[in-house]
Amino acid sequence: MTPGIVPPFLLDRLASTDDPRLARAAAAARKTLTVPRPARPVRTRLRLSVDAGALVAEAAAAPDRVISDAANTERLPGRRVRTEDDAATGDRSVDEAYDGLGATFDFFWDAFARDGIDGAGGSLLATVHFGEDYDNAFWNGERMVFGDGDGDVFTGFTRSLSVIAHELGHGVTEAAGGLEYQGQSGALNESLSDVFGVLAEQHALGQTADQATWLVGAGIFADAVQGTALRSMSAPGTAYDDDVLGKDPQPGHLRDYVETSDDNGGVHINSGIPNRAFFLVAKRLGGFAWEHAGLIWYRTLTSGSLSPTADFAAFAAATVATAAAEYGEKSEEVDAVRAAWAGVGVAEDAGA
Ligand SMILES: [Zn+2]
Repeated sequence: MTPGIVPPFLLDRLASTDDPRLARAAAAARKTLTVPRPARPVRTRLRLSVDAGALVAEAAAAPDRVISDAANTERLPGRRVRTEDDAATGDRSVDEAYDGLGATFDFFWDAFARDGIDGAGGSLLATVHFGEDYDNAFWNGERMVFGDGDGDVFTGFTRSLSVIAHELGHGVTEAAGGLEYQGQSGALNESLSDVFGVLAEQHALGQTADQATWLVGAGIFADAVQGTALRSMSAPGTAYDDDVLGKDPQPGHLRDYVETSDDNGGVHINSGIPNRAFFLVAKRLGGFAWEHAGLIWYRTLTSGSLSPTADFAAFAAATVATAAAEYGEKSEEVDAVRAAWAGVGVAEDAGA
């Protein structure tokens, strides 16, 4: 289980504000920090069948969504309220979660021919209205869980497709063998989820790398917050600068790497470095970012050769190797990947 989309240091800031106008938000943040997140129940599932004596795994290119409603309790999964092919319910969170899961499924299928989170057509599960004023969204190893937000700082988490796809991205990383959620491998884990988050949004909107905002979580802050999103992949450190929340602490270069024991060793902070490397690749290659840059990152994650404790340098080398395997040693893709990692200080630029 990974921490939610909102990093603990942001909730800490909000929890300790003494601004009387934000009393409800501060109380919500304190509560969000202390509510235990129910873990995935232990269970096994087989979706195998026998065809002419051969064992086959069924895979259909259509999502199987199940949205449940926790009715502002902290119990999972909650009551089932919308399943595949049901009409819209009129509950905004339920319908946004349903649509967001569908858009994320379509992205993974169209871009990488991946059938769902597990790659084997497993159900996409989500619970909305978790807790009271709960200021986060998280992946618990089995399902996406969304709080409603406190209303004064966070407006809810289902309205951002990049948030939904970020959380499902954690499921993809886990299914691919995982990246240990600590230090640099943890920051890579976070970064991959941000990559999938923004790519799913770009895919849904039909945006090229040039047209995209490269923001994660745009639209989840209330109007009063001085900020546009939780993170910026093109300009880490610029997503918000707010009296209550403080300034976006993300570095975009290895020389500014933040050594900290908080936030699992700064996984939501130092992810700015690989985030910017991905942005640089996508920008240089142009077009739809999922087609080349995204494919290189995805194949690197799912090739089976990435160590769960990979650091930035190991991941960078793996992306160069993937680009070479996909497009050739002398390709523009290899040059772009090398230059991007050099640009964020993780590798030396061979061409420089
Ligand atoms: Zn995350």
